[in-house]
Amino acid sequence: MLGFLVVALCVYGCQRGDHEPATDPARTSLLLIVVDALRPDHLGCHGYGRDTSPNIDRLAASSIYFTQAISQAPMTRTAMPSLLTSLYPAVHRVYSGRTVLPDGFSTLAETMRAAGYRTACFTASPHQKQSYNFYQGFDVFEGYHEGDGNRHLPAESLVDTAVDWVRQQATQPYLLYVHFMDVHTPWEVAGDELDTVCDAAAFGTTTEQRTCRYDRMIRYVDGHIAQLLSAVDSNATGQRPIVVLTSDHGEELGERGSWGHGETLFEEVIHVPLLVRLPHARHPVSRVDRVVRHVDVMPTVLAALGLEPLAPLQGVDLLSRAADGGDPELTAFSEAAFPKAAQGSELQYLVAVRDDRWKLLASMSLDPRTMTPGERDPTLTLYDLATDPAETVDVARRHPEHLQRLQTELSRWRTSCNQTRLHFEREHGVTLRWRGELDEETRKLLRSFGYVD
Ligand SMILES: [Zn+2]
Repeated sequence: MLGFLVVALCVYGCQRGDHEPATDPARTSLLLIVVDALRPDHLGCHGYGRDTSPNIDRLAASSIYFTQAISQAPMTRTAMPSLLTSLYPAVHRVYSGRTVLPDGFSTLAETMRAAGYRTACFTASPHQKQSYNFYQGFDVFEGYHEGDGNRHLPAESLVDTAVDWVRQQATQPYLLYVHFMDVHTPWEVAGDELDTVCDAAAFGTTTEQRTCRYDRMIRYVDGHIAQLLSAVDSNATGQRPIVVLTSDHGEELGERGSWGHGETLFEEVIHVPLLVRLPHARHPVSRVDRVVRHVDVMPTVLAALGLEPLAPLQGVDLLSRAADGGDPELTAFSEAAFPKAAQGSELQYLVAVRDDRWKLLASMSLDPRTMTPGERDPTLTLYDLATDPAETVDVARRHPEHLQRLQTELSRWRTSCNQTRLHFEREHGVTLRWRGELDEETRKLLRSFGYVD
């Protein structure tokens, strides 16, 4: 197993070869690419057999690839606020589409804009309409606006708009966040060139056909990611931006007979790709096979850019951990909340506690008035991912020591989240922000991506 080696020391301080441009962290831009519902195990760089991702694989070859990155939620609406604020859902409480991100939190975009960066978001996600309050901190926010109707934004048009914007940036550093929806159902784009991945018509069963369609969409997005990378790397300043590529969550592809995401926390929905390409191609670590979290992305990029956060963060800077010489195990927490079938307004609440080998799943209820967990004892399940990566056998009775250890971690984490939430309430005036009623147009748009309201 590879650990965190001394990466950070080389981010800006390594001896450079003659061909490498000088890099000034204060002038370095950041490109954040989120491919909705992209599973790492369907990428070439993760060992997948189909030719889904030649360009992402090339990016991975010049990046640090975190092979065990864990999303904090299986839904865009909950996962993205955690990625963009470095706060767990238990703190921001954007669950189940009922609440939206309050203004009092400081997003990555707000932090970078306060430091003089231009900030732009181009998103195809229907969960990032302006009414969800996702646009905090962006000078430019192009996506679904109210009144846009039921239109899907394919990678092609997103990239065209994003590239136009990049070309207008002269010397001012920027944050560019592009969110692709093509790998999310309904997997509509066709194209003969995608037959090199697989031919959906050649498969008999629904599972094989649907998986093939999913894989073809990865290849489709992959080509447009190449265009985006080429645009950001050929800019007037001669500096390459930091590039982060991830997904908000994974996707069930027939595991346990299920399709989609949102109501479980198994690996197929919380394990996400995470690539971090630093401005210099050379760094001593190319792959980290230990658990890292989405909440670590913001502290890591802020540190690489030399920026201070505006408010407390719950993640860690993955690069300075290395520089400190420490390599302790990180624990990832993921959360999901959704209405219980036929049980009124009460919400089902799941938490996963995941370390490098063990995973505890806790199931309880969430109080829909406060969006905080109820007091009843949770139902607990323990999995040993080393011997049972598909999470089929509950080993809680066989390994009480790990059950107890992860329960203690869960309880410590809940205390820490409560304290952080109180801090934001007292110091930043944060309160729960409820979403307004959805208009019929938004309902239609969400239904077209397979969401029922
Ligand atoms: Zn999503």
